[in-house]
Amino acid sequence: MSGGNQAVLQELAERIDQADAIVIGGGSGLSSAAGYDHYHWSPSLSEGLSLFREHYGFTSPLAGFYHCFSSYGEQWGYYSQYIRFMWEAPTGQPYLDLQSVIADKPAFVLTTNVDRQFFRVFSEEQICAFQGDFGFCQCSQPCRDDIWENRELVEELTRCLEGVRLPEEAVPRCRDCGRMLVPWVRDDTFLEGRFWKESLGRYHAFLRHWLVEQPDQKVLLLELGVGEMTPSIIKLPFWELTARNENVFYACLNREASHVPVHLRGRSLYLQGDLAEMLAELRNMRLA
Ligand SMILES: [Zn+2]
Repeated sequence: MSGGNQAVLQELAERIDQADAIVIGGGSGLSSAAGYDHYHWSPSLSEGLSLFREHYGFTSPLAGFYHCFSSYGEQWGYYSQYIRFMWEAPTGQPYLDLQSVIADKPAFVLTTNVDRQFFRVFSEEQICAFQGDFGFCQCSQPCRDDIWENRELVEELTRCLEGVRLPEEAVPRCRDCGRMLVPWVRDDTFLEGRFWKESLGRYHAFLRHWLVEQPDQKVLLLELGVGEMTPSIIKLPFWELTARNENVFYACLNREASHVPVHLRGRSLYLQGDLAEMLAELRNMRLA
């Protein structure tokens, strides 16, 4: 790690120490740093899904999720193994390091990641999974405001799998309307229902509590691996929160170069580099 980065990282460690509350904005770069890149084939997913990768020639794990399959049995053949991977994959080291870095600080996570990793290291009450999460299913209609954890379902389906496909009768269906179930992940039928609204409500309540009700408290916004695809979910709101609140400090860690909004200078820091390395380093600094 370069000397310049080291000094900025030290500043961040101090900012974390001094913060009364921390809001984490987690993007796909964090999971990529953990070895779980869903936009390109990384070794672990490539190995876990090799049968499907070879059969269909998907360009990435997520491309398989959005693929137009010729039958529901084929669709759920892939879904079942993609989802099973996410349940069974070990918790990524950067997530464990992050948990240790935040330690006992009041914290909330706003994330676009859909791979369950945040749920391993923070409680469900502390997380708003804005784009959903593969660990849940919903009715594809959806005919009802409900989502279900699917760990046992995918284990059952795995036992029915014949090559890359499931028998049509094994395709999971909604108990009420009989339509196919789908993973609770952002697409055109994504259910922004009670679970989603409540988690978003908890996020807003957390912000209100630390920014409005106790305006003298120091709040750190910690943005990790947020790409350019959907800036309106994490990045732009974080910039706005920083601009509007004097006691907010904004820290952005990314492998790619990020823009520095001029008006946030002095109340923000940017670190470009390997997130796995930076979080491990931060953990050591916090322990020292
Ligand atoms: Zn239904």
